[in-house]
Amino acid sequence: MGDAIHCFPPDIGQGVNSALEDVCVLHEALSQSNDNISQALPLYESLRSKDLKPLIRLAQTAFPWQYNQAPLSRKLWNVNFFLRLLLNRVLPFIFSPPAFLLIQNYQLSYQEIWVKAQRTTKILYALGIILICSFLVWKFS
Ligand SMILES: Cc1cc2nc3c(=O)[nH]c(=O)nc-3n(C[C@H](O)[C@H](O)[C@H](O)COP(=O)(O)OP(=O)(O)OC[C@H]3O[C@@H](n4cnc5c(N)ncnc54)[C@H](O)[C@@H]3O)c2cc1C
Repeated sequence: MGDAIHCFPPDIGQGVNSALEDVCVLHEALSQSNDNISQALPLYESLRSKDLKPLIRLAQTAFPWQYNQAPLSRKLWNVNFFLRLLLNRVLPFIFSPPAFLLIQNYQLSYQEIWVKAQRTTKILYALGIILICSFLVWKFS
């Protein structure tokens, strides 16, 4: 459980939380399989795996530059963070808050957080493409 199976940097402060979730999910799997460990482990894997990839992606993207490892990347990350924060304040039904803030909401699973963050990323890319195309049309017309 915990760091023994998915150790990641402490950037998003989820090491203890995700370790405790592991324990709860294993408990659930053991309950469902009458404490039969050889049935419980595959069940544990199938219940837990849907959150593990999102958790790894969140550790890589939600707040990766807080120790000043790469000043330029940190600046770009800050722009991205405050842009999402601002857009969420103005249009909350379209843009989700930054993933690092969504992580503080204990009612959301890592998978739900990742889906929300990705949805906002796709909208931002679409807006960027529309802006560039509009600029090119304006410039060359
Ligand atoms: C600098 C830093 C900052 C962090 N900040 C945060 C934070 O803000 N929030 C957060 O949620 N997480 C944070 N984490 C991550 C968090 O500490 C870990 O994810 C969490 O402690 C993992 O719990 P665990 O029970 O899986 O492992 P551990 O806490 O490492 O527990 C494993 C235990 O097993 C013992 N052990 C090992 N081998 C044996 C053996 N052979 N026999 C008996 N015992 C053994 C070890 O001594 C240890 O006590 C941080 C980590 C670091 C390094």
